[in-house]
Amino acid sequence: MEKTLVILKPSAVQRALVGEVTARFERKGLRLCGMKMMQLTNEILNRHYSHLATKPFFQRIKDSMMAAPVVCCCYEGVDAVETVRAMTGSTNGRKAAPGTIRGDFGMSFQENIIHTSDSPENAVVEIYRFFKPEEIFDYKLANFQFLYANDEY
Ligand code: ADP
Repeated sequence: MEKTLVILKPSAVQRALVGEVTARFERKGLRLCGMKMMQLTNEILNRHYSHLATKPFFQRIKDSMMAAPVVCCCYEGVDAVETVRAMTGSTNGRKAAPGTIRGDFGMSFQENIIHTSDSPENAVVEIYRFFKPEEIFDYKLANFQFLYANDEY
């Protein structure tokens, strides 16, 4: 089953939104496979945001991601990447749809509460950028039969 990476950014940690945001993923029915607090470094952010390296705001977004610890989460579910991305909303919090995490909790393009993987291929790379293999847990949800029909997974 598909896994995806969520990072609760310093904007979520400092604004005390960790519980609110993770509660949404729990209620949705995603399985929490891993969770940890980390202080990010310039080195890991150079890799994580390499697609933005030529942007004038590259250093600023890295500084923003290092301004406080983050909470990294790995979630699993059918189509988890697409589902979590839809719950996240578009990048600019002012434009993100109400009902999405960015749309409900933020006013900023940069300080937009969470990072979520944008494709299944990137999700695999990102999960193992932030987690060691032994930090990802494989267990079955006790209510699994009430989350999916047996032809959905
Ligand atoms: P997303 O996080 O929606 O996948 P990107 O990968 O394009 O978006 O950008 C990574 C992060 O960089 C964004 O979440 C946001 O915090 C920041 N960012 C991207 N574009 C801008 C911008 N034009 N101005 C300010 N911050 C930006």
